[in-house]
Amino acid sequence: MSSLGHKGIWVFAEQRDGEIQNVSLELLGKGRELADELKTELTAVLLGEGIKDLSKELLYYGADKVIVADHPMLNIYITEPYTKVMCDAIKGHNPEIILIGATAIGRDLAPRISARIHTGLTADCTSLEIEEETKNLLMTRPAFGGNIMATIICPEHRPQMSTVRPGVMVKRTRDEGRRGDIIELSPELNESHMNVEVLEVVKESKKKVKIEEANVLVSGGRGIGKKENFEVLEKLAKELGGVVSGSRAVVDAGWIERDYQVGQTGKTVRPDLYIACGISGAIQHVTGMEESELIIAINKNADAPIFELADVGIVGDVNKVIPALIDALKNS
Ligand code: FAD
Repeated sequence: MSSLGHKGIWVFAEQRDGEIQNVSLELLGKGRELADELKTELTAVLLGEGIKDLSKELLYYGADKVIVADHPMLNIYITEPYTKVMCDAIKGHNPEIILIGATAIGRDLAPRISARIHTGLTADCTSLEIEEETKNLLMTRPAFGGNIMATIICPEHRPQMSTVRPGVMVKRTRDEGRRGDIIELSPELNESHMNVEVLEVVKESKKKVKIEEANVLVSGGRGIGKKENFEVLEKLAKELGGVVSGSRAVVDAGWIERDYQVGQTGKTVRPDLYIACGISGAIQHVTGMEESELIIAINKNADAPIFELADVGIVGDVNKVIPALIDALKNS
């Protein structure tokens, strides 16, 4: 699509089982900032079945307007009907920018849309800014295996499309006083769009906590020594009402699951408290946790780079310091 006549910023409001995903609220926060800078409107686009009531929530988190497509064929995410409805809406409204969360759904949907409407897509972004002179969107993402950060622009085609990692942008405070238009679409869908049959939906275990959403993270690195020593981290996390995460070194060693990896090739987190236990502070780890509110580092090497970032540093053997911390917490 050429750049003529396109305006407004869209955020794809991903919902699962009627629950708006956090990344979409984060994108509304960033989208609000960009829309104010460009003096344009921020629209949330919501697809599903029986989801109209969620529209107000999107206004509360920063949207000026919500476009809703409520249809039985949008009940669960299937590539073709979602792509069709999104592309029809885009062609009808000509947004200038479209932001989508880099979730499993977003990573499937965004490339289909961009191919169908003939525009570019920058996937897995960690930063979005407006270029002062041209007003193009500057989309930054890790490149070459995470060794450099690349800033990409889409100067000729519109809309400019980007998927953004969960946990990178910041949600606005929910404001129930916000009002805006809610526009209902009548999706033109029929059986020919249901080219996939869903045989079974296997839900993620409720027990699995997302580290991007935890307020407290107790994070273990190679300095923990062995898999069994993670038990003591679990105990500390329990005392603090937090969750255990780790560096890539411990994921590669098979000490914890990949879903709990913090860093450039893992998750970006910004908890209120991040306790780095036996983690050296390599740049690829730090980029995933540097925005944490309070960082406590425990490392036996006083020169470990993690101490440059930490608000509180404890030089010592992590396997002695943590049990002492747990005792102190129990006795406090
Ligand atoms: P180490 O670097 O080995 O550090 C262990 C630390 O523990 C040391 O500082 C040591 O002094 C301390 N220590 C040892 N014993 C004790 C003890 N008993 N008590 C206290 N302290 C102790 N890494 C990530 O974490 N996340 C990523 O997403 C990521 N992505 C990457 C992407 C690319 C392209 C590349 C090249 C690398 C990536 N890495 C990532 C790897 C990263 O470069 C580091 O290798 C990794 O973070 C190191 O993990 P670590 O700090 O646990 O281990």
